[in-house]
Amino acid sequence: MISRLLVANRGEIAVRIIRACREMNIETVAVYSVADEKSLHVKLADKAVCIGPAPSSRSYLDKNALITVAIKTGCEAVHAGVGFLSENADFARKVQKAGLIWIGPSPEIIDLLGDKIQARATAQKNGLPVTPGTNGAVNDMEEAKLFAKNCGYPVIIKAASGGGGKGMRIVYKETELEENCKIASAEAEKNFSDSTIYIEKYLENPRHVELQILADGKGKVAILGERDCSVQKNHQKLIEESPSPSVTTEMRKKMYDGARNLFASLKYCGAGTIEFLVNKNDFYFMEVNARVQVEHPVSEFVSGVDIIREQILVCIGENMETDPEKVELKGWAIEARINARTPGTIKNLEIPSGPGIRFDSFLYNGYTVVPFYDSMLAKLIVHNVNRERAIKRLESALKELRIDGIQTNIDEQLKILNTKQFKSGNFGTSLYAELEKSGVLK
Ligand code: ADP
Repeated sequence: MISRLLVANRGEIAVRIIRACREMNIETVAVYSVADEKSLHVKLADKAVCIGPAPSSRSYLDKNALITVAIKTGCEAVHAGVGFLSENADFARKVQKAGLIWIGPSPEIIDLLGDKIQARATAQKNGLPVTPGTNGAVNDMEEAKLFAKNCGYPVIIKAASGGGGKGMRIVYKETELEENCKIASAEAEKNFSDSTIYIEKYLENPRHVELQILADGKGKVAILGERDCSVQKNHQKLIEESPSPSVTTEMRKKMYDGARNLFASLKYCGAGTIEFLVNKNDFYFMEVNARVQVEHPVSEFVSGVDIIREQILVCIGENMETDPEKVELKGWAIEARINARTPGTIKNLEIPSGPGIRFDSFLYNGYTVVPFYDSMLAKLIVHNVNRERAIKRLESALKELRIDGIQTNIDEQLKILNTKQFKSGNFGTSLYAELEKSGVLK
């Protein structure tokens, strides 16, 4: 067991990690930017150190500053949460070089999976179907045009190192391909310092389905069910649920077997997610996120497993508590992300509670939301016996949730829940755009 851990992140995920550590008797050291001095993770950690000014490039992304704090404060391990440096192989390597434990898979695996082209090839080797796409990077325009013509428009251009829904461009006809490849490549260089792009067939209105994996690097791979994240705005997830209303027993078996093979063959250690697109009866591998994800609480609700605790345990070399053969998934869980539309000071915060209701956040009355980081303020997650009752519970909890002082998307989430499309469970990733177009989300 370790006694002290550095939390290299902010917001709700930093709070979540601190809470898991408290239960494990691990002391936490938080880091914060000047803008986050009053943030909840700073109050909750055993110790907190300011690492720089507001821009994340000079604070939460400053690898050397983070490692210096970890060493000076006697930490033995570093947890980077989600976003920021959580999937940065160079940071993981630096952490390990400094003699600290990296809470995540090895830098080599992060490198391999972080490159979408290599990840696709690795998934294929393990028997998983991938979306039709160029087998490697696009360098030659004639080749790209030929591929797009053969697979049929629309196609989607993606950055090999992309993430967070950034760097993707959908192209509907050949005359627009070259221009869009150039733009995508320049955007990829700017955002990810890697101009490599590739092309995939663009599936119309597929479902986004992903599996929550926990693996100990020694042969144990547990799958804590799937999550359906098809409610997205501009490719960013808004509502996630587990299980998925669209996955059949037969498809589930194929997905789970393929995922198990992939993670076992990689000797993957830690928590991870494998993402698929589902098109009617077919599914295609999309990518692996080599870290914990924002939507992990829905899997925690249905499986009863504390994913952050398990992630820390396996990465520090302790035994995984979950027996992969005995994972039991119960009921239905749904998460609604609560996002800020404006900065401002929180007033009259009223948090719903009751059976099967969880609120993961860093808000408190009097806290001023700063404009420098992600707009997500909170996650409201519910659990109930089936989908219908989970929707009812989420609706009731969203109505009870009150956050004054700033504008949020609470009303919009309620509107989505109340549509017949969402209620039917039969929808794809275009749902949000369709609702916007039809005026439901005005
Ligand atoms: P990121 O890594 O930036 O999050 P992903 O590759 O995971 O990007 O894709 C994010 C979302 O973009 C998916 O959930 C889906 O909605 C959409 N998307 C990605 N690839 C395709 C595709 N080939 N066809 C249709 N939609 C896609």
